[in-house]
Amino acid sequence: MRTPVLAGNWKMYLTPAEGRKMAETLRSLVAECAGREIVLCPPYTALSAVSEALEGTNVFVGGQNMHPAREGAFTGEIAPPMLIALGCRYVIIGHSERRQYFGETDATVAEKVRSALAEGLIPIVCVGETLEQREKGVTDPVVEIQVRQGLAGLSPEELAGVIIAYEPIWAIGTGRTASPDDAQQVCAFIRSVLAGLAGDKAQETRILYGGSVKPENIKELMNRPDIDGALVGGASLKAESFARIARFE
Ligand code: PGA
Repeated sequence: MRTPVLAGNWKMYLTPAEGRKMAETLRSLVAECAGREIVLCPPYTALSAVSEALEGTNVFVGGQNMHPAREGAFTGEIAPPMLIALGCRYVIIGHSERRQYFGETDATVAEKVRSALAEGLIPIVCVGETLEQREKGVTDPVVEIQVRQGLAGLSPEELAGVIIAYEPIWAIGTGRTASPDDAQQVCAFIRSVLAGLAGDKAQETRILYGGSVKPENIKELMNRPDIDGALVGGASLKAESFARIARFE
């Protein structure tokens, strides 16, 4: 009943010309893919070229970050209406790299999520534990705080429309994927936290897994009841590998 979401996060890779080429190849490789949302999140500089290449196709575009304000004197920042003007429907919020290197906190995540929803963007909110936290056995409480604080103040309807990406930090870019069972366990836990906040509406929230997702492991991840898709980094840079992920092959 939940439409799967396969989102590619290009991070700081690909020029506009490279991005356009990738998008043009991808769109034909996934043209027959129905019943799922396929999303590319290029760097800001490639958004326009990628959006143009994907116009009228079944692949959507998202930003990797945004400033919560509509406009203002914030040098180097991008506002939600600017993303929308470039064709974005989605925006990644609070990726672990933003938290680790750019000082983002659960409070800034909450502010951005509220702003994204108010502007009509679908936020893909990232949560996940470090290796140290996993080894200490505190994954659940860490993720619970991120979910509760990052989504603070949202109505059950708003919570239903948010996408959460569970990305264990030790699995990002390391080639080390969480086992499908471990990923399922945390995604089910996140849904139970959401149920406490949104009741039955929590059944509508899409929860993705992220961290070294590749064509070889997507099928098994998608077989788990609480995993509704994937946020893909490295393997989303090549049209062929991302298309295989989007097709669950
Ligand atoms: P990865 O990145 O697929 O390269 O591990 C995932 C992410 O950071 O969203």
